[in-house]
Amino acid sequence: MTNPLLEHAPLIPFSVQHDCLQIGGMALTRLADRVGTTPFYAYDRQKITERIELLRQHLPQEVLLHYAIKANPMPAVVQHLASLVDGLDIASIGEMRVALDTILTPDKISFAGPGKKVHELRSAIAAGVILNAESEQEMESIAKLGIDLGITPKIAIRINPDFELKSSGMKMSGGPKPFGIDAERVPDLLVRLGFLGLDFVGFHIFSGSQNLNATAIQEAHEKTIQLVIELAEYAPSPVKLLNIGGGFGVPYFSGDRPLDIAAIGVNLQCLMKRVKQQLPHTTVALELGRYLVAEAGIYVCRVLERKMSRGQVFLVTDGGLHHHLAASGNLGQVIRKNYPVIIGNKVQGVAREIVSVVGPLCTPLDLLADQMQMTQASVNDLVVVLQSGAYGLSASPTAFLDHPPPVEVLV
Ligand SMILES: *Cc1c(COP(=O)(O)O)cnc(C)c1O
Repeated sequence: MTNPLLEHAPLIPFSVQHDCLQIGGMALTRLADRVGTTPFYAYDRQKITERIELLRQHLPQEVLLHYAIKANPMPAVVQHLASLVDGLDIASIGEMRVALDTILTPDKISFAGPGKKVHELRSAIAAGVILNAESEQEMESIAKLGIDLGITPKIAIRINPDFELKSSGMKMSGGPKPFGIDAERVPDLLVRLGFLGLDFVGFHIFSGSQNLNATAIQEAHEKTIQLVIELAEYAPSPVKLLNIGGGFGVPYFSGDRPLDIAAIGVNLQCLMKRVKQQLPHTTVALELGRYLVAEAGIYVCRVLERKMSRGQVFLVTDGGLHHHLAASGNLGQVIRKNYPVIIGNKVQGVAREIVSVVGPLCTPLDLLADQMQMTQASVNDLVVVLQSGAYGLSASPTAFLDHPPPVEVLV
C-alpha cells in the first residue's frame, strides 16, 4: 500500500502510535532512551521472522533458504536468522566465525567470494564448510590443502553463466566477471575435479543484487536450472546442492514496487518439477541477503541544529555517510536518490517542509536527504532512515573523520 505521507518511498514498514514509530514493539523515543546514545541502528526481530514466513509461504517447500551474512553481519541478527533458515552463506573468514557460532552445522555453511587466501581456505576446510570455488587456481589450492590437512574438502563450483540477470542493481554474472568460472570452462574443470579427490557438492550461481523485477528473476532461475542440467552430465558425482543465488530486491525509491514474491514462487514450483526429473539427487537453495533484513532495520540519528542557508533548511544531525554510505547515495548509485527518511517521533507532525538532512562530516557527500519533504523537525528530534537493515553499517566507512561508531541493537 502506498503511504501518502511518504511520496518518495512505497511504505513505512512499521506501525505508528501517538505519532511515534514503533520498532520491536517499542516506541522509538523509548528505544532511543534505552540505547542511550545516537546514532544507532535498530533491527526488528519480529519483522525478520515475518519475512522468512512470507517466503516459506510462497516458495516450494523443498527449496532451502540460506542467509547471505554480508547483508547484515551483526552476530545477534545472524543468530536469530540461523534459527529460521536452512543455511548460511559467508564471504570471509570473519563471517565464517560468526556463522560457526550458530546452531547450524558446518555442512550448512558455504563460503563464496574471489581472492580467498590460503589461510582462509585452510580454516574453512578444517571447519568443514562448503567451499564455493571461484577459479581453477582456487580449486587446485583447495585440493592441495585437503591433502596437507588429511581432510576431504567439500567443494561447489561457482559458475559465471553466459547470461546476465536483467534489471539488477548490480550485475554479477554474464560476460567477463571476477566471480565464478566461465560456464564454457566448467566441463573440463569437472573432469579435473574428479581426479583431485574432492567431495563434489554441487553448483553455485549468483547473478546480481537488488532486483525488483520478478520476470527477470524467474528467467534467471530458469536459465540457471537449465545450465546446471547440462553441466551435471560432466560432474564426477551427482549434484547434491544447487545454490541459485539471491538478489531479491526491496523498494527504496520513488516508483519502486515491492517484488512479486508469489510469482517467483509459482515459477519455482514449476521448475522444481524439472529438477526432480532431471536432477533427482539435487536440493535447490536460495541465498538471500538484502530481502531478509533490509526492511527490518532503521538508522536513527538526532537533530543537532536547524540551519537556514539562503532560504533552504538544513537539519544537521549526528549521523551521516560514515555510518550509512548507501543512504548518502555513495554506494553504487549512479544517480543520487533519497532513501525513505522520516522524523521518527513526529511521523505525521503538524506542518511539513522541504529540508536537507546532513551529517557532521566536512564534505558535501554527507547527505542523508536532499531537499525532501518531511515533517517539520526541531533540535533533538529523531531522524529515521528506513530500509536500512542491509548493507548499512558494515558497508560504511566508519573510520572516515574519526567519529564514534553507532550502536546496533536487535529488538
Ligand atoms: C552478496 C551476495 C548474496 C546476497 O545478495 P542479496 O542481493 O543481498 O540477496 C548472495 N550470494 C552471494 C555469493 C553474494 O555475494
